[in-house]
Amino acid sequence: MALPPACAVPSDGPLTARKYPEPLHPYRLPFERDRARILHARAFRRLAGKTQVFTNRYSDHFRSRLTHTMEVAQIARTICRVLGLNEELTEALALVHDIGHPPFGHAGERALDDALKEHGLRFDHNLHALRIVEHFESRYAEFRGLNLTLAVREGIIKHSRDYSAAEHPELAEYFLDQQPPLEAQIIDLADEIAYLTADFDDGFEAEILSLEHTSAGVRLFERFYAPMQEKYAGASEKLIFNEALKRILNALVDDLLEETTRRVRADGIAALEDVRRAPERLVGFSDAMENLRMEAKRYLYANLYNAPELERDHEEAERVTRTLFHAWMADPSLLPPAHLAEIAKEGAPQVVADYIAGMTDQYALTKYREWKEQREE
Ligand code: MG
Repeated sequence: MALPPACAVPSDGPLTARKYPEPLHPYRLPFERDRARILHARAFRRLAGKTQVFTNRYSDHFRSRLTHTMEVAQIARTICRVLGLNEELTEALALVHDIGHPPFGHAGERALDDALKEHGLRFDHNLHALRIVEHFESRYAEFRGLNLTLAVREGIIKHSRDYSAAEHPELAEYFLDQQPPLEAQIIDLADEIAYLTADFDDGFEAEILSLEHTSAGVRLFERFYAPMQEKYAGASEKLIFNEALKRILNALVDDLLEETTRRVRADGIAALEDVRRAPERLVGFSDAMENLRMEAKRYLYANLYNAPELERDHEEAERVTRTLFHAWMADPSLLPPAHLAEIAKEGAPQVVADYIAGMTDQYALTKYREWKEQREE
């Protein structure tokens, strides 16, 4: 299924450019260095303390944003290797893809976005990720940020959505009128595959989802679960479930590989320039699989992400995020000095949002408790 070799992003050339030129490493390629820079970043380590779907009120063996990130990297690398693309670039992009997420999962993101809307701003986790790698990480004496290659910065911005040049002139260097390279396109769907399968797993473990209900409502699940029930008749429900789930993951990856290969061949794509000029993204699922995937995704929204059992966590995420935001807006002098110094340039709402977005769940909860205690004194 390997694609024409020229479809891959080369490990040298213009996409390996850094804002601050650096000499090449004697034995590590530019994207390998980016992967290492991301892995060693403080914001990367904080992913361990950020909610993916379940707070650790439920269990401490559920996915965090860090383990989700590693599952995405695992899936993306496999896809990339089979297609003959640049594995180091894809892995770097997978590791960095969720680095801009605030604490408390999507509830935290919504709360931060709502708070910023009051000031005419929005919270966007891709843009925040770019700010982290360009400004907030401080590891080098010669420059601010991680000084990542152009391909990785472009992938951070464009892996999951498109930005218009008219609305975002500050992103002009990222080829906004062109498709992202295949290595970045893969990340979006490896992410979808990773969380779809993982959320079924954690959802059953949390006993929010039931096998009967899901079998009836999700054709993709039923298709693999029923044969496994027959094949492993004596095994525990959970093991049968696991056997079904890994087949679902394989089926999604198989379909993605076949459909992407088909599109590349059908459109006569021979090189990266063709990928960039294609009218639509080339990495994708077949129509049949896309329908099944969307059905499964809608099911998760209705029965897991918006389940009453998780409502308590969502309310807490909103309360903590909103309270912290308004507390620091009311008195920005309470911000740490490094953040306070940014206000002149960025404005208080942006700086406060940046500070909160960087926090782990536990750190945000600690700050919230401190705020409450001070008010009660
Ligand atoms: Mg993700």
